Amino acid sequence: MSTNTYQSKILGGLYGQALGDAWAMPAYFDPDQTWAKFGWIEEFLPAPDDHEVHRGLPAARITDDSEQAFSLAREFIAAGGVTLDATVRAIVDWYDRTGGDQSRYVGPSTRRGVQALKRGEDPRIAGRAGDTNGAAMRISVVGLLHPGDPMRAIEDAIITCLPTHGTNVAISGGCAVAAAVAYAMHPYATLDGVIAAGMMGAEIGRQQGTPWIGASVTRKIEGAVAIARKGTDEKARLRELYDVIGASLAITETVGAAFGVLVMANGDPQRAAILSAALSGDADTVGAIACAMAGTLRGIEAFDPAVTQQLDQDPVFAAYEVRKIAAGIQGLIEQRK
Ligand SMILES: [Mg+2]
Repeated sequence: MSTNTYQSKILGGLYGQALGDAWAMPAYFDPDQTWAKFGWIEEFLPAPDDHEVHRGLPAARITDDSEQAFSLAREFIAAGGVTLDATVRAIVDWYDRTGGDQSRYVGPSTRRGVQALKRGEDPRIAGRAGDTNGAAMRISVVGLLHPGDPMRAIEDAIITCLPTHGTNVAISGGCAVAAAVAYAMHPYATLDGVIAAGMMGAEIGRQQGTPWIGASVTRKIEGAVAIARKGTDEKARLRELYDVIGASLAITETVGAAFGVLVMANGDPQRAAILSAALSGDADTVGAIACAMAGTLRGIEAFDPAVTQQLDQDPVFAAYEVRKIAAGIQGLIEQRK
C-alpha cells in the first residue's frame, strides 16, 4: 500500500475529526432550535451567546472531542503505540491544561475518571462506571494506527477506554468507531464495509468491561443506517434519527447517530458535518465521529482546502500540529511492518 494513500487517509481522519467537531459546535441541543436559528449550517459559525456549553467559542473552534483525540495521538506516538499509561497521561494532561475542574465541557465520565486517577486509583478500574460518549469521541486515532486491521484496533481501543469509560456499553461504542476507522484506512474500503466493521467492533467491545445498563450499539447502528436509507427527505430522516436513535450523551445514541449521518452523507466528510450540525443534540460529538470515519474513508482530497485552511488558522487547532501527528502515526505504522 502506498505511503501516499495512508498519508491522505490519516490526514482525512484527523481533519475530519476537527471538521465535524467545530462545524457542529454552534448547534443547539434541540433540532427545532437549531433550524429556527440557523437553517442548515453551511459554514463555520461561532457558538450563539445562549448556548449551554459552547457560548463564547469562535467559528472553527474545536472542542474537547478533538483536543482529547489529538492529545492521545501525541502520547501514543511518544510511547511507540497505545498503552494504558499513555492514555492516562493524555487525558489527565488535557484536563489540567484546559482547567478541567472549572470547565463546562468535561463530560461526566471523564470527570469522574480523571478524579479517580488523581486519587491514585488503578487506571484499569478508574473508569469502571464510565458510560457516556467520551469513549467514542476521542478514539478515531486508535483506528488510524491500524490500517486494515480492525481487530488490532479493537484491542487498543479497549485499553484506551478503561481509565475513564470502562463499562461494556462505553467500550462497545469505542470499539465500534475504532474498528470502523481502522477498516476505512484500507485503500479498498467501502461505506458498507465501514458499517460492518463498526458493528463487529460494537459486538466484541460489549463483551468487555463492567456489565452496565445500555442499549445495543450494534442494534443502534443497524437502526440508524435503516433510517438513513429511507426515501424521506433529509430533514425528516434527521428528525427520525434524533427521535428514535437519539443524539444525547448516551454512547449508544451518539455512535448510532454518527453511523446514520455517515450513511446519509454517503461517506462525504463535508456533507456529514452539515448533517451533524442539523441533527443537533450532542452534535459536535456526532460530527467528530461521523466526519473522522468519512475523512478516513475518502482521504484529505475530499475536503475543501478553504475549510481545512480555516481550521489551520484557529490557534487551538494549530497548537496540536496535526501534520506532525499524521507523520508520527505514519511512522508508527511503518515501524510495525
Ligand atoms: Mg465536544
